[in-house]
Amino acid sequence: LQQDLLELKDLPAETQDGHRIPLWVNTGLITDAVRSLERGAEGVGLYRTEVPFMMKDRFPSESEQQKIYHQQLKTFAPNPVTMRTLDIGGDKALTYFPIEEANPFLGWRGIRVTLDHPEIFLVQIRAMLRASEGLDNLRIMLPMISSVNEVDEALHLIYRAHAELLEEDFDIVMPDVGVMIEVPAAVYQIRELAARVDFLSVGSNDLTQYLLAVDRNNPRVADLYQAFHPAVLSALSMIARDAKASDTPVSVCGEMAGSPLGAVLLMAMGYDMLSMNATNLPKVKSVLRGISQRWAQQLLEEVMQIDSAPIIVSTIQLSLEKAG
Ligand code: PEP
Ligand code: MG
Repeated sequence: LQQDLLELKDLPAETQDGHRIPLWVNTGLITDAVRSLERGAEGVGLYRTEVPFMMKDRFPSESEQQKIYHQQLKTFAPNPVTMRTLDIGGDKALTYFPIEEANPFLGWRGIRVTLDHPEIFLVQIRAMLRASEGLDNLRIMLPMISSVNEVDEALHLIYRAHAELLEEDFDIVMPDVGVMIEVPAAVYQIRELAARVDFLSVGSNDLTQYLLAVDRNNPRVADLYQAFHPAVLSALSMIARDAKASDTPVSVCGEMAGSPLGAVLLMAMGYDMLSMNATNLPKVKSVLRGISQRWAQQLLEEVMQIDSAPIIVSTIQLSLEKAG
């Protein structure tokens, strides 16, 4: 396996008919970044900034954050690193900032927390921007967006932080800013969101949980959490279509992108890039290299006619096996 991994590392993620789809990675720790490079990642599609926050017993200062972010950016430069702003609440807790709610997944999560605490948001954005000085490979991504107002508010704060830094004589370029599509409402506003930002990225973990009303971490309903539920596939396909129509790059950074079956369908739907755990990258790459885009599109057409998740999964599995 080690030899296979090495051989795959420098080969492009390209289908038999020459369609290239960049494979990026999801990171949290610096060790993830190093492992990702060994596996030939072309960028970071999701850096979960809550991970370094969880390892402290208080909010990290601007300069502490800057150091941590700089490490990520430098490790991947000149390739892009997509830093998601603090996504706490729901299943992600900070001991020093407890949030107690009856319905945490429908409560104070992600962008909702940081827009209510602009001081936390601004410190983080300043740290990201300062960390990117001279590297220019930063992208900023906003989690849990459910309305354009949140995007406008967040963009306003990002511009403000950037303007402040320029006034303080830093030489920092304005990074691309994108939003996560992980709340069902956002699926119906792709064009409006795309008009405001540089890229979109689907958080299929949360999107699936919210579309199906199934807690992604509750073992009792684990059987109902179906990544290949026809409604989920229909939403994913709509997102890709509307993003294309808006000329805005769209990727997937949820677990689905890191499963070979999911990656095949997402590539066929027209997603521009897939971001996954480094562990899954070689497997996904080798599967994509073994098929043609044309073949995957025919499979997608067939699968979109099926009304049950288990049958969808077995259909994709059988087709992949037949294709060798
Ligand atoms: C997602 O929701 O799909 C996602 C990528 O973010 P997280 O798993 O960190 O919520
Ligand atoms: Mg999420």
